[in-house]
Amino acid sequence: MKKDDCIFCKIADGEIPSATVYEDDLFRVILDIAPAAKGHALILPKNHYDNLWELGEEEAKKVIGLAAKISAAQKKALGCDGINVLQNNGIAAGQSVFHFHMHLIPRYEEDQVEIPWKTLSYEDGEAQTVCDSIKEAMKEL
Ligand code: 5GP
Ligand code: ZN
Repeated sequence: MKKDDCIFCKIADGEIPSATVYEDDLFRVILDIAPAAKGHALILPKNHYDNLWELGEEEAKKVIGLAAKISAAQKKALGCDGINVLQNNGIAAGQSVFHFHMHLIPRYEEDQVEIPWKTLSYEDGEAQTVCDSIKEAMKEL
């Protein structure tokens, strides 16, 4: 399941070379070309999925298992103090390459990496309404 004009399909396939830290039948893990920190890695499935909700549950489980393994290796190899796991879906969420990928970003005390958001608050009862709507939608999946 590849998409013809997708750069991450070509990278995952090995058609375009990349700095590969891990590869198996289903995944390739590469270094991001424009890293937030050295060792910033991207987990790419070899099959094309636009985003998280297109990824099946089985592959999603494997992605998080792989993220646990790669992050342990980053911690050991780089001696970083922390790691952000980041995964953007849709233009509104900052996705720029529309082939599912998960970022693993090494972090250091006092580094200059910014992953900020401004916080909101709920009106009385609003959190429950939002909660119920998501619960309802889950029943239909
Ligand atoms: P997004 O914004 O979609 O979550 O992240 C896309 C990421 O892919 C960016 O961090 C960007 O630097 C990285 N990227 C885009 N094109 C390439 C490429 O050709 N090779 C590699 N290694 N990374 C890429
Ligand atoms: Zn693709």
